Amino acid sequence: MDLGKIEPFEICSIRPPTENFSLTFRLSRNCGWNRCRFCPVYKEGVKFSRRSIEEVKEDVDRAKELDDLVIRSLPSAPSSGRGDYQEAERLIAEIKIARARAGKGDPARKKRDTGTEKGKGDAGPGEVDERSSWFSTWFKNEPTIEDSIYHLLAWRMHGAQTCFLGDSDSLFLSPDFFAEALSYIRDRFPTLNRFTVYGRTQSAVRKRPEELRAFREAGLDRIHFGIESGNDTVLEFMRKGVTGEEHIIACQKTREAGISPSVYIMPGLGGAQWSTEHALDTARVITGAGADYVRLRSLEIFPNTGLAEAVAKGEFTEASEEQVVREIRMLVENIKTDTTIVSDSASNLLDVSGKLPEDRAKMLKVIDEYLALSPKGKLAFSLSSRLRSFMGQYGGLTQDIVAALQPYIQGDQINVSGASEKEIQRIIRHIRSKLMP
Ligand code: SF4
Repeated sequence: MDLGKIEPFEICSIRPPTENFSLTFRLSRNCGWNRCRFCPVYKEGVKFSRRSIEEVKEDVDRAKELDDLVIRSLPSAPSSGRGDYQEAERLIAEIKIARARAGKGDPARKKRDTGTEKGKGDAGPGEVDERSSWFSTWFKNEPTIEDSIYHLLAWRMHGAQTCFLGDSDSLFLSPDFFAEALSYIRDRFPTLNRFTVYGRTQSAVRKRPEELRAFREAGLDRIHFGIESGNDTVLEFMRKGVTGEEHIIACQKTREAGISPSVYIMPGLGGAQWSTEHALDTARVITGAGADYVRLRSLEIFPNTGLAEAVAKGEFTEASEEQVVREIRMLVENIKTDTTIVSDSASNLLDVSGKLPEDRAKMLKVIDEYLALSPKGKLAFSLSSRLRSFMGQYGGLTQDIVAALQPYIQGDQINVSGASEKEIQRIIRHIRSKLMP
């Protein structure tokens, strides 16, 4: 094989945590809606674009070629051992040398229009705020040979069975396009046995039942819907472009088509002003929708979003941490359908997860233990929870955080009993401003 002709393929950087080790292909790029006020994801210089079926197939062929090389370069079936990464590094180096000889530069891909404006979308640290910089280190709008090979290696190491097809709404596609893409992928990667997508509920509402069934017949197993809230005032304020009733219809139609609906919701999205309505209506909508999974993503307000602007203008007041916890309590109490609650985001203060109805008491206990703490106890809890999330995400603490904590470090413990509540709040706010949800 002529390594000088090898090209990378486009991967879906933005995908559910359950698809972290999936093989991914982009059926479209970025978000065609892109108006939600709280959402920072596709705001930094990337735009929506459709892809032709030929382009998708070309990516699948590129992935297959690279996957064959990955398999051949590893001594045995991939494990999670260091040796696999060393072999992958060697393969990457070989391809890069061959590509350089063939006159191909870095970034190592044939230039396509990937919807990147002004060279952004792969921005490096330092150009924007720290959290956005962190985000841009793993948001790969224009993947390289390294990205493609590590993506395939991670997929192989985790069983080579799952596939995610992005980007943000694969339901706007025609069933024929989806079926052709999926059949092409299956032919080349026959070990795949689970296919999932992100979808807008609005797109599911617009699809006829037979169209959704065609997605199922093509092999689609699950749709991840970002419903965020069930309250119409909140949805309208956030420019989500859909109502609570439409969320219900979309999930019901999805289930009737034989596809599993999974929903993301956002505690805190109603702010201080609509906190109760947001929680109760979201519980009502989840009950009506009958989603299989409910994933919690507590609201974080990102700079340069419409929501940050609304806060600056006094149109939106952020809910307190305690208010957000009380919302989650209302959700757990009021969701009356069999479902699984998952807390798999660094934005969540508490780990409230389990099956409903059987784990309801267990989940309420976690919440009530927090609510029973004194005001200062709640802050100390929050500080240690946010620190854990930070270390989980970045692998350690940054100098600025260590400096902020310095007066309170006692041996290997942090003791904030002598700090004022305002000071603890300031440190928590600083840590949260760097966490990616
Ligand atoms: S539809 Fe999803 S990806 Fe698009 S702007 Fe809204 S939240 Fe962001």
